[in-house]
Amino acid sequence: MVKCRLCGSKAVIKLQYARMALCRNHFIEYLENRVRKTIVRYKMIKEHERVLVAVSGGKDSVSMLNILSKLHKEVGFELVALHIDLGIDDYSELSRKIVEELSITLEIPTIIVSVRELLKAGIPELARKLRRPTCSVCGVVKRYITNAVAVEIKANAIALGHNLDDLTAYVLKEFFNQNLGYISKLGPKTSNLNNLAIGRIRPLYEISEKESLVYALVLGLPFVKAECPYVRDDSMERLLKTQINELDYRFPGTKVGLMRKLAKNIETSYPPVRYNITSCRECNLISSDELCTYCKLTKRIFGRPYGSETREFIRKKINDLGINRSKGN
Ligand code: SF4
Ligand code: ZN
Ligand code: ZN
Repeated sequence: MVKCRLCGSKAVIKLQYARMALCRNHFIEYLENRVRKTIVRYKMIKEHERVLVAVSGGKDSVSMLNILSKLHKEVGFELVALHIDLGIDDYSELSRKIVEELSITLEIPTIIVSVRELLKAGIPELARKLRRPTCSVCGVVKRYITNAVAVEIKANAIALGHNLDDLTAYVLKEFFNQNLGYISKLGPKTSNLNNLAIGRIRPLYEISEKESLVYALVLGLPFVKAECPYVRDDSMERLLKTQINELDYRFPGTKVGLMRKLAKNIETSYPPVRYNITSCRECNLISSDELCTYCKLTKRIFGRPYGSETREFIRKKINDLGINRSKGN
């Protein structure tokens, strides 16, 4: 039996890079402490701020919400959760139920936006109508709704559940493609752009996929075990993840080392792609063109852009939940 280095009881995880094994209770304490340190190290959240947490219902976002729900009382920031029901059959139904359950247990106000209710079709049908890959349509819709909600509730930041494994794979993929400008968006946090696009934070920046999974399991947190049916097994990110984990096993600390160095060099070595930041003439949110990507996409579906109506739909959801829209610093 592998024993906990701190108390000698049965270990639930062996942490290769830290060269130690920990029992359930010591692992929970250790992981929460590491997220707390990550938030401080990268100055992600300040006291009295309002954070919008994007929760898909997967292990990472569920673990992140649970940890933030403990930290927000201690540090004194406010949490609002957001779940987007993508309308992807059983997968979305189950994800939504899990987030609703968690929101009650953790007592976090949760805004649920159903794509089917909003756009009269789920993501797969919209993608078919547009003849575009499902994930690309999904990405546009998710990014737009998340930002629109954050702007509406005057959130100071949007917390995303990207873990260390996701991020190292994204960084390497962009590096292979020499999209260095895109790497600039993969640091621990991105900045707020003229209040048209709210900055993002990644509290799991230094937490591996295995750690977030074990955390959710030992705490018995509900999460969706199945993956979205549109995830591709042969994607470059997935292959990179396997290879990087092998590397990290042989040379413990490789992943954390890379992401820490990246955070340090991000401003000097990976300048963001400069584009014209303006506001969409239809919905007033961030755009590089007269119409934003979401308004262009919905115009192709409905014959007219749907940004303003989407914002109105979101406002109603927020008002129904009684969330104060004038708060935030
Ligand atoms: Fe959306 Fe599923 Fe594609 Fe992820 S895998 S972007 S949830 S359709
Ligand atoms: Zn222990
Ligand atoms: Zn728009």
